[in-house]
Amino acid sequence: LLCLSQDFDFFYFVQQWPGAYCDTKHTCCYPKTGKPVADFGIHGLWPNYKDGSYPSNCDPDSVFDKSQISELMSSLEKKWPSLSCPSSNGFRFWSHEWEKHGTCSESELDQRDYFEAALKLKEKVNLLQILNKAGIEPDDGFYSLESIVDAIKEAIGHAPGIECNKDSAGNSQLYQIFVCVDTSGSELIECPVLPKGRCASNLQFAKF
Ligand code: 5GP
Ligand code: 5GP
Ligand code: 5GP
Repeated sequence: LLCLSQDFDFFYFVQQWPGAYCDTKHTCCYPKTGKPVADFGIHGLWPNYKDGSYPSNCDPDSVFDKSQISELMSSLEKKWPSLSCPSSNGFRFWSHEWEKHGTCSESELDQRDYFEAALKLKEKVNLLQILNKAGIEPDDGFYSLESIVDAIKEAIGHAPGIECNKDSAGNSQLYQIFVCVDTSGSELIECPVLPKGRCASNLQFAKF
């Protein structure tokens, strides 16, 4: 194992805006525990390479095991809700994220550590608070991409990646925010490469 070369370069920590997941042409479904609070939710913690590519599904033998995250369950339900249909309690989403992404950083983080690292990052990067302080609120209004990037850069010291999708009327809207994290899953770093975001220069911040 000592001679194993590094199997990824950094993580993307990705948070999604529920309003933008739910107001597209596809429907969304609230979790069985009820409508999530109007806050960014975790989408995933994704191992990535500096050239923009990424590994996936790295260990078919490492299946998702509920018992390893039993103590994190109530936090995961609040901070990492699943909005896909049919309505679920989150296990399908967490299991997908572990198997697709988490298995590629197992050299650094086992299953419990992986989910715990994501929850700690969510505490550290309070996007809604950062945006609200800059006067950017989920009120269906339009904001410049630059103002969103600048507010986050000011707060965490690094430029984030912003991904947009389209609401059912075709407006470009704030969907996901990527920040970069070192391979330990704890320290924020400058992104070695930013995802292509498909955002217009002015984007809507949807109500939820
Ligand atoms: P999409 O096609 O919606 O951009 O991405 C679909 C899925 O591919 C994401 O949910 C995620 O699992 C994976 N993915 C997309 N872009 C990236 C990326 O830049 N890095 C990593 N690690 N995974 C990505
Ligand atoms: P795109 O055309 O946006 O680059 O990628 C389309 C889909 O291909 C993404 O949603 C993602 O699922 C997959 N994809 C893109 N790049 C990679 C990669 O480097 N590795 C893997 N495993 N999938 C990728
Ligand atoms: P990715 O492969 O892009 O990391 O994750 C997307 C997968 O997780 C899709 O299969 C999607 O249906 C499922 N999923 C479950 N709940 C959610 C959710 O709340 N948001 C997103 N983006 N995907 C979800």
